Amino acid sequence: MKHLIRGRVLIDGKGGSIDQGAVLFEGDRIVAAGRAADIGVPEGAEIIDTDGTVMPGMFDAHVHLRSPGTPDETGMHKWEMASMSYADMSLRAAYYAQQTLRSGFTSVRDLAAPGGTIIDLRKAIDAGYITGPRIKACGMGLTVTGGHMDEGGWADHVSFANMTAPCNGADGFRQGVREQLKRGADFIKLNTWVSYHNSPTRFWRQEMTEDEIRAACDEAHAQGVHVAAHTYGPDGVAASVRNGVDTIEHGHWIDEPTIELMVKHNTTFVPTLTINDVHASYAVDNPNLAEKYKRWHRESSAAKWKTLELVRKAGIRVCTGTDSGFQLENGKWGAYELMLMVKGGFTPMESIVAATASSADMMEIEAGRLEAGKYADIVIVDGNPLDDISILHDISKLRVFKGGVAVQ
Ligand SMILES: [Zn+2]
Repeated sequence: MKHLIRGRVLIDGKGGSIDQGAVLFEGDRIVAAGRAADIGVPEGAEIIDTDGTVMPGMFDAHVHLRSPGTPDETGMHKWEMASMSYADMSLRAAYYAQQTLRSGFTSVRDLAAPGGTIIDLRKAIDAGYITGPRIKACGMGLTVTGGHMDEGGWADHVSFANMTAPCNGADGFRQGVREQLKRGADFIKLNTWVSYHNSPTRFWRQEMTEDEIRAACDEAHAQGVHVAAHTYGPDGVAASVRNGVDTIEHGHWIDEPTIELMVKHNTTFVPTLTINDVHASYAVDNPNLAEKYKRWHRESSAAKWKTLELVRKAGIRVCTGTDSGFQLENGKWGAYELMLMVKGGFTPMESIVAATASSADMMEIEAGRLEAGKYADIVIVDGNPLDDISILHDISKLRVFKGGVAVQ
């Protein structure tokens, strides 16, 4: 059966909008999209008419579905890693996946979880056992021993085998890439450079060597997958880009020469404005937090806007990613990233493109555009987000379809 959604405005995900637009779909795919008058009404089609806007389902290109996103610093997920089983984490992640889908985000990229928990969640969603967004998962994030995703502080008898993925040396990282792909990862996550709090002027430090970054990227690319890197600072971003990283996550403090390098290498930027913004607001008021951490938040908050401006001017591809799961509850913050992009100088349309076509291209998912052949991942918005982007943050104003099926 064919379904026709007609709206006062249609946003195509590619940067265009049409008054009196329509999208026609059958099964899980779009058959046609464009002017309602051109599409007409195919015989027997079910019609949904709206006074609002029809647009593609959105993408959150940086989430951690395995963790609760409690703002409390003491509730960090490493403590949960010692007390929760994989099944606990996967079942809770299934709830977060449902909440994320209901909020209009029909695709997400998961940037690290213990073992294969989110890979298995993806399989369960794809098999139709549970509802959730389309997922691209990296499995575990690769990190050096004691690095960002293999933190120390544990007694000798405690083991996090299969919950973290420490690798060392070029061969170690090649092996790490192969192990995640064997488990079913869709792409690779590296922690190349990380935040640093012990200097008043330098807020990042190196964890992976350039040899290690190069080896991991070469191996991933040989296997046909992309590499995302948690990284900071101009030298950290440059080292990552130079050695093959495809998407820079966070990346505050990027300077102009590094921007040029990103343009040359066609690097994608996922600025994760939301975690920076929300986390900083908790941090600066937290009486239990040492001054050096507050300083880091103040400095990174200022830096992220400068970086975003340079990236926008250079025309670098930006994708929306919140870092939900890390001190942000999954399913509640997706559209906030678009609001912050607009605050940072992007137009509402540019922020929607970042959340639709740009992210779809980066994640290689056939959605994010209202055009024939794409998945019928569609959001009906009560209002026009081009006039007020914040309405996307109000779930009560959204009706969501994934693969042509209305999300309950
Ligand atoms: Zn993250």
